[in-house]
Amino acid sequence: LLSPSGELQGTVFGEMSELARTTGSVNLGQGFPDYSGPQELLDEAIDAISRGENQYPPPRGTADLRAAIAEHQLRFRGVSLDPDREVLVTVGATEALAATVLGLVEPGEDIVVLEPHYDAYGALAHLADARLVTVPLRWPEFQPDHDELRRAVTDRTRLIVVNTPHNPTGAVLRRETLQLIVELAARHDAIIVTDEVYEHLVFDGEHVAIASLPGAASRTLSIGSGGKTFSVTGWKVGWVTGPATLIEAVLAVKQYLSYVGSGPFQPAIAVGLRLPAARFDQDRDRLRAKRDLLVTALRSRGLETATPSAGYFAIADAASIGYTDATELCRRLPREIGVVGIPVAALCTPERQGDYRSLVRFAFCKSDAVLEEGMRRLDRLG
Ligand code: PMP
Ligand code: GLN
Repeated sequence: LLSPSGELQGTVFGEMSELARTTGSVNLGQGFPDYSGPQELLDEAIDAISRGENQYPPPRGTADLRAAIAEHQLRFRGVSLDPDREVLVTVGATEALAATVLGLVEPGEDIVVLEPHYDAYGALAHLADARLVTVPLRWPEFQPDHDELRRAVTDRTRLIVVNTPHNPTGAVLRRETLQLIVELAARHDAIIVTDEVYEHLVFDGEHVAIASLPGAASRTLSIGSGGKTFSVTGWKVGWVTGPATLIEAVLAVKQYLSYVGSGPFQPAIAVGLRLPAARFDQDRDRLRAKRDLLVTALRSRGLETATPSAGYFAIADAASIGYTDATELCRRLPREIGVVGIPVAALCTPERQGDYRSLVRFAFCKSDAVLEEGMRRLDRLG
């Protein structure tokens, strides 16, 4: 992520997707589906363009999308929000994260994150001149140890970034862990930022929105992604919800990052958020079958694979088939057998990369034919 001189480098997702393109590989790296979301959303986006909704939307997002986000949070999470003051639409969850970190963190403050972690967290800590403090998630359960969490959060902590369901491990954090995080945040006067972009893609267990826990709402910003929820990652519609004073601080930065974005996709995501629960379940069940297909295929090839409870990704241990350096393996796979995966070490801080050295993340949000072709190619591995 950072060069030895501390400069930001290209993202692992950009590098690996480019390698997939140039080598004609099956791309099980970057997390985007190779299918589009519900037809109603696609139709609404086309209609919105035809209706002429092609100019700047309002800085907080369209009133209708903000209302739909608030309705969705109430319907699925029991969290009540004022759509005018407590909801902000962003250019993907990525911008929500960026504006939150840049808007709320002072140089030298701590940001606590789980490790491995989505790469933007580390980059944003760097941009904010903050210190990243990591709590490891260990193979194969990938649940944080409560004592390690207690040690990580101190009076220096400004943000505790929670990511559940978790990228890249597919872990769903337990209610007791989330309760502990709320307690620690209150004790040390920290703000909780919870990245819940995979909230509807839980196969085993239950997604608990941390904002719904007692004592959490007044210090929690929750982040969601229309792209991830509805399999339209290129649309880049995200949101952040929480107390009005915190949203104001995030908006203050957001207006100078993008000002606004994704105009005609905002009404389309509003349509998605109002779909009946059964439609969310259908998409989740389709993805669960893909998870099962990939995990079974990897295991049948001798690769030890942790079962992800949620999300887009499964993690395999390449050491189980004799490869201890997954970064080196992931650079060779595209050219030698035409498959792309992501080395988990690329999603770690340098100090902890060694602990994740042999792990590879494979995306299963792909058509069955693509997953099967990827697995056939793995058989060519010498
Ligand atoms: N957070 C996590 C954990 C992610 O995996 C991603 C990637 N989709 C994002 C945030 C960014 O989401 P978006 O594409 O909506 O910017
Ligand atoms: N969230 C996706 C992943 O983890 C895509 C990330 C990206 O391209 N920045 O692969």
